[in-house]
Amino acid sequence: MSVERVCWEGGCRCDRVRFTVSMKPIITMACHCTGCQKMSSSAFSLSALIPQAGFTINQGEPVIGGLHGAARHYFCAHCMSWLFTRPHGIDDLVNLRAPLLDDARNYVPFMETWTSEKLPWASTPAVHSFAQLPESEEFSHLLQAYAEFAAADANR
Ligand SMILES: [Zn+2]
Ligand SMILES: [Zn+2]
Repeated sequence: MSVERVCWEGGCRCDRVRFTVSMKPIITMACHCTGCQKMSSSAFSLSALIPQAGFTINQGEPVIGGLHGAARHYFCAHCMSWLFTRPHGIDDLVNLRAPLLDDARNYVPFMETWTSEKLPWASTPAVHSFAQLPESEEFSHLLQAYAEFAAADANR
């Protein structure tokens, strides 16, 4: 797992929640599932999976939203922006909504998931596509491939 340091700032729509990312994402992704379509009110969601140790909330107190189910989806209590998700049973990673970064211009989704549910016209530049989710044994290869992809652009 990459431990390369970065210093990225971000926040919600109203800026009451502010955060810092200090470690590079281990992978970035677009998700076409209907749940993400609804929760983002858009064609797909965009996220960066970041080590928890590299994620700091500097201001504000995110609240649980979405389905209030096993996956913990966090939102700004004021503007209701979807901020990040803590996947069920995984406490060392945070799936951050990448467009919340103050400078998201270098962000690119590396893989896309749930293309089986995607809107017919929706497409992304992701180089790995999955009808649902990758098999768990594929994941280490994907992380390695993402590390090489990100190394080609030092800002990623
Ligand atoms: Zn807000
Ligand atoms: Zn999804």
